[in-house]
Amino acid sequence: IKRTGRGNTLLFSKELVEEKERHLIIAQRLKHAVPANEMHLAFQPLVHADDFSLHSYEVLLRWDNPILGRVSPEEFIPIAEDIGEIVRIGEYVLDTALSTYTEELGRDSHVKLALNISLRQLVVPGFADFILGYLEKYGLSARSLILEVTETIFDARNQNQIIAVLNSLHAKGIEVHIDDFGTGYSSLSRLHEMPISALKIDKSFVQQIDDQRCAIIEGSVMIAERFGVHTVAEGVETVEQARLLHAIGVTYLQGYLFGKPKPHFAEVTVHSDFLLW
Ligand code: C2E
Ligand code: CA
Ligand code: CA
Ligand code: CA
Repeated sequence: IKRTGRGNTLLFSKELVEEKERHLIIAQRLKHAVPANEMHLAFQPLVHADDFSLHSYEVLLRWDNPILGRVSPEEFIPIAEDIGEIVRIGEYVLDTALSTYTEELGRDSHVKLALNISLRQLVVPGFADFILGYLEKYGLSARSLILEVTETIFDARNQNQIIAVLNSLHAKGIEVHIDDFGTGYSSLSRLHEMPISALKIDKSFVQQIDDQRCAIIEGSVMIAERFGVHTVAEGVETVEQARLLHAIGVTYLQGYLFGKPKPHFAEVTVHSDFLLW
């Protein structure tokens, strides 16, 4: 079929309208998602690269809407951030995650819990006290908690505020990890001022490792070592990837090889014995 330039423009704008409509519907339905019980959490293990022993679980949000079906967080989190709804949703995530942790693992567990935190949440006044208040509610140690924040914190205007909040959380024993490391094209000029415990290398570098991506992973590990912090690789699906990442010196691994996100704290599905490093 031959199309005129105008026809293409029309087609394009129709798709754009549909996209805007879906965006609007999601924004509307998001406001009711928590009270209507449509959200739940999934937990995915992170292991030590040396021996595949359990280190922590990452908390991942899931949304099933009766009309829209399962909506991916890749789609709805940015919208929730846009309309500010992420703050209320984030409170649901924190409360439910700590409650499930306390029930299933118990207060004395040494397994850590990693929460994804949007920039939008981090800059709400009183954020540090908000987190500490929930730890107190469940009688959990600050050492149980990891906050994953993305590289966008380096591009934000209010750098000083962000550094202050992260410092006060870090002082209590909460770890901060940089998520999606390597994807943000951010200026890392203030990395040394941030109380960071680990860089989490994005799964896009892990999944189809070629020479270039391998160089980025090696570079990330070098940066991390210079700053005295650990590294995490996410999206590890094969034994070959795990081997290579371990050889490069990555500290922790996460991915379907070790366990998919599950509604409970499921056990790690692979053991290092059969790998023979
Ligand atoms: P993320 O934090 O980078 O999470 C990693 C994503 O990779 C998750 O997608 C996870 O399910 C997926 N994944 C883990 N292992 C593998 C693997 O081996 N192979 C493949 N192909 N994928 C793997 P998910 O659960 O769809 O979450 C997408 C994004 O949504 C997250 O990316 C995070 O940025 C955001 N998100 C999820 N839950 C929350 C939340 O509670 N709060 C905030 N602010 N953001 C969240
Ligand atoms: Ca994450
Ligand atoms: Ca990531
Ligand atoms: Ca991501």
